Amino acid sequence: MTVTNNLPDKMKAIVKDAPNYGAKLVKVDVPKSLEPHEVLVKVKAVSICGTDLHIWLWNEWAKNHIKVPQILGHEFAGEVVSVGRDVSLVSIGDFVSSETHIPCQHCKQCRTGNMHVCQNLKILGVDMNGAFAEYVKVPEIVLWKNDPSIPPIWASVQEPLGNAIHTIFVEDVTGKNVLVTGAGPIGLLAIGVLKTAGAAKIIVSEVNDYRRDLAKEIGADVVVDPRKESLVNVVKKETNGDGADVMIEMSGNPQALKDGLTSLTNAGRASLLGVYDKDVQINLNDLVIFKAIRIYGITGRKMFETWYRGADLLKSKKLDLSKIITHVLDFDDYERGFKLMEEGKCGKIVLKL
Ligand code: NAD
Ligand code: ZN
Repeated sequence: MTVTNNLPDKMKAIVKDAPNYGAKLVKVDVPKSLEPHEVLVKVKAVSICGTDLHIWLWNEWAKNHIKVPQILGHEFAGEVVSVGRDVSLVSIGDFVSSETHIPCQHCKQCRTGNMHVCQNLKILGVDMNGAFAEYVKVPEIVLWKNDPSIPPIWASVQEPLGNAIHTIFVEDVTGKNVLVTGAGPIGLLAIGVLKTAGAAKIIVSEVNDYRRDLAKEIGADVVVDPRKESLVNVVKKETNGDGADVMIEMSGNPQALKDGLTSLTNAGRASLLGVYDKDVQINLNDLVIFKAIRIYGITGRKMFETWYRGADLLKSKKLDLSKIITHVLDFDDYERGFKLMEEGKCGKIVLKL
């Protein structure tokens, strides 16, 4: 065990301290004791994820997954300040971000290129203390070295960016008409990525006015409010009656899923990232089987293929996050960040330390 002594004893952290709404900014111990493969990172920027919002709201999922007290957060960028005895991947001073899925490295999936669906997966900020703090302790296996040219605020959103990249590139999208259902923070990142990949037409369905406008600004060719017009009709009209080639489902809304599948062209492809509150019923015969549609379930990011792609898009400045990150707030102003997330009047929100 390595113990770092040149650091303060206490740090600020956003902690879920009780099984109810909200979270508190409190002082907690700096996690200075490191196992041989652990790394301590001084956090510079953290971004608020939908999962953090679920924990903040204390919904059914959070009640079943989170043990209080716990530090929230998992999307971050920072500097390595201490390393365990056997760490070889990073050194003190490195600028890093981190994968959230912590794999066991021993199971069948870990040994066959599928660490993101490890059988013994642990999740940062869900199964252990997270990164909404001045310092976070993580195992070296999940660390990602950032290029110094990428600003920490951008580097902190690489994890959700990776979700978008993973969802989009299961098959190719160049020259294809793509429907994105749900322009939440990840849907917005997806629009940015689709632009870089040369999608022919990007059609975005979103019920939130603010986010529909943002989707347009980021580069959606067509935006649809599915409460006001038929998504299926708009997609058919925009694609010469054929339907979309690709559907990227990022809403977690059952109606969006059904309308999206209906809007897909025969032999099209659907990638589902959105997570549903409960079981969803669809007409498999008409929407999938007789249309010969390929559906991919997407979880997490390919480790670390998606990280290379995302980081290189940022480093090469092909992907601009300035419109997608709508708010950069002080760490202490976290309550405002969570309120904005609750209202949906935001893209990605980053807290800086
Ligand atoms: P989010 O909840 O902020 O965004 C969802 C968006 O969908 C919102 O803007 C909402 O207004 C919109 N929406 C709701 N109903 C709609 C409808 N009928 N038609 C069109 N749009 C509708 O979530 P996010 O953080 O952007 O993440 C996107 C989805 O991906 C969520 O469901 C989230 O739970 C899920 N997710 C999955 C993984 C994974 O690994 N599978 C990882 C992260 C997030
Ligand atoms: Zn494993």
